[in-house]
Formats: sequence, C-alpha cells, structure tokens
Amino acid sequence: MPTQDARLQGIGNGIEGRDFRDIPLWRDVSSEQWNDWRWQARECVQDLGALEQIMALTAEERRGAMAAEQEFPFSITPYYAALCDPDDPMCPVRMQAVPHVAETRRMPFQLRDPLAEDAHMPVPGLVHRYPDRALLLLNNMCPVYCRYCLRKRLTGEVNEVLSRAGIERAVAYLRAHPEVRDVILSGGEPLYAADARLQEVLAALRGVSSIEILRVHTRMPVVMPQRITPELVRVLRAAAPLWLVTHFNHPKELTPDAIAACERLCDGGIPVSNQTVLLRRVNSSARILKELFHKLLMARVRPYYLHQCDLAEGLEAFRTPVAAGIEIMEQLQGWTSGLAVPRFVIDCPSGGGKVPMGPEYVVSTAPDEVTLRNFQQRIYHYPEPQDRDCTCPYDARWFARIDLG
Ligand SMILES: *Cc1c(COP(=O)(O)O)cnc(C)c1O
Repeated sequence: MPTQDARLQGIGNGIEGRDFRDIPLWRDVSSEQWNDWRWQARECVQDLGALEQIMALTAEERRGAMAAEQEFPFSITPYYAALCDPDDPMCPVRMQAVPHVAETRRMPFQLRDPLAEDAHMPVPGLVHRYPDRALLLLNNMCPVYCRYCLRKRLTGEVNEVLSRAGIERAVAYLRAHPEVRDVILSGGEPLYAADARLQEVLAALRGVSSIEILRVHTRMPVVMPQRITPELVRVLRAAAPLWLVTHFNHPKELTPDAIAACERLCDGGIPVSNQTVLLRRVNSSARILKELFHKLLMARVRPYYLHQCDLAEGLEAFRTPVAAGIEIMEQLQGWTSGLAVPRFVIDCPSGGGKVPMGPEYVVSTAPDEVTLRNFQQRIYHYPEPQDRDCTCPYDARWFARIDLG
C-alpha cells in the first residue's frame, strides 16, 4: 500500500519546475528566501531584461512583453517562472504568464469590461449582480497577471487597494441589503493583503449578520503556494464558514508545493474548489482536463466551474469554439467520477451572468414520458407520474391553481 504522502507525490508526476539555483538570476537565493512569500512577492519578474535571463523568448513573446508596458502589465512570481519551460513557448504554464504579441489584436466584439461589472457596482469595489451574492474587489494587483484575464481593465500602472473607508462603505451596503448571503473576496488577488488586513476585512464582513458564507477567490495556491502559511489558514478558518476557490488550469501546475498548499487549507478546515478557464492550446483537450480534475480530487480540491473564455480585449488567441467545451463535457459526464466534472459556463457578455452549457441528454418530452440518452448514447424512457392529482409542479392543473408570481 502506498502511503498517503507517496500517493500525493504521484499527483503532479513529481514535476517541480527547474531548481531555482540553476537560474542565474537566483543562483544565490537561499531556500528560506525562496519559500518566503514576501520574497516571492518582492522579486516578481516584471521587466523584459529579467525575463530574458530566465527563458529563451520568441520574437512574438518579446514584442508582446514590449507592448505589455503600454497596456496590460506582466508579472510572474519566481516560483511560477521556474515552472515555465525555458525552451518551449507552447509550455502551458508559460502561455498563461508570458505576454504574446497576439494580445495586441483587437476584435469588434471585445469589451474593456466584458461582464459589465463596473455598471453593477452600487459602491466602488462591490459588484452586486446576482440576487443573493456579491463580489468584493479588494485590490487590482496580482503577483502573476494571467494573460487571459477578464479584468484586464483594472490592472495597470497604478496599484489600488480598497481603503478602510471603502470597506466600510461596502459593509454598510451589505448591511442595508440583507438578501446578500454570500460574499466573495476577489480582486486582483485578495490574498496579496497581509494577514492582519485580511483579518480586519473578514471580521468586518462577519459583523453583518445576514452574510452566511464567505468565499475567497484566489490564485495563490497556483502561482505562489508559499502564501498559504499556517497563520493565513488560521485567519481564514476564524471566519468560517469560508470557502476558498482557486484556479488551476493545467496538471503541470499541481507541483508538490501547490499540492501541499491545498493540503494545508483542507487540513485547516477550509474547503477548496477550483475554477478552470478553457484556453486554446493550453488545456483545450478532454484528456488534459480529465487528468487535471482527477489530480485536483486527489488533492481534495473539487472542480467547480469550467469557464468559456470571456470577451475581454486581446484574448482572441485563447478562445475555443463553444462546441469544443461541450464536447469536452460529453467526454467527462458519465465517464468519470461526478465529483471530477465541473459545470461548463459562459458568462454572458455585458452582464447577463453565468449560463451553464453542456450536451443535451433529453431526446424528447411527452405528457407521459421523457426520453433520455445516456453517456453511451443508449436511449431510455422515464415515465411521468400517472396520478395527475399529485402536486407535481409540471402538472398543468396544479400550475393553474397557484400564483406563480
Ligand atoms: C461568478 C460571479 C459570482 C458567483 O457566482 P456563483 O455561480 O455563485 O459562483 C458572483 N458575482 C459575480 C458578479 C460573478 O461574476
């Protein structure tokens, strides 16, 4: 019997990225520094010269990095940079983090604010689109700027942090809107905040009695697993029930360090789920995604959403046809653990919210039966209730008797 540790080490195929001491830029860095999240945050790679010392850039990447200075900045943690293949521009980690000249391409349907979040902010930093939940954007900074980000508009020269007064305004709004029972901390990167500030924000939100659950949407376990310290886990646990939602896109990102970060969260009482963005050539394959979702489950992380890429500016090269995502779902549903199957969603342009997409399993409906196909294309008939006086909500007479409001 393999031990738990041996099984976990097997999750990521033992891929650890390069030893940082083999990269000239970090030859003299101690492992203590490397494993300190503040060092990782301070040493983020943000200029072309440094990037060229870590990997052999293509002409398209170099031009992309130069264009990034004007538009969407780049930043890569030393940890994530060491995970990039220095010689292969098609490395799935590198494609997510290193700018490419394709980002300068503009399409008529691309939007600065694809989900119309700015229009749904009743107070600055708080997006309230759905009836019972709201999104609190704590800052606009990330240690790694994902090249396919939907909030590109927010990042730039100026780092912004929601002030204490800003938090108070958001809290006052939430107190006046008790229908909001789920508040999501996002950004930017919400876990870029120091523990003490997070503690303060979480305590302020916990002071609103109508808020049932809190969520932290963060990419730290993926791009800077050193941030998930035992102290941070305690701060998050103190605000329970709190769900952490992270963002792995490829099995290569499940390094021993990343897995250990997820383990610390789970062991510390924080349930962890994952959102993946479907990205052309990065992970647009049922085989890759199935491997990712299986390995996430082994790290006790539940695949939650698979997102169709949004229509933000410069993302055309990352988009896949909608049919590709549906086909991937077809190859997952029924063929593997239900727990390994996320929901595939498109966030409607201009703020309609998320719409679930997938293969159609209902072949036809009739008054007395529904015809279904299963994952293997076999046909089944499911009879509807025969007793038409039952309180079946699909019974027309029952419908007629109530006010559907
Ligand atoms: C995605 C999103 C949420 C959360 O949606 P869930 O389906 O509950 O995860 C909340 N607010 C906004 C604005 C969103 O885009």
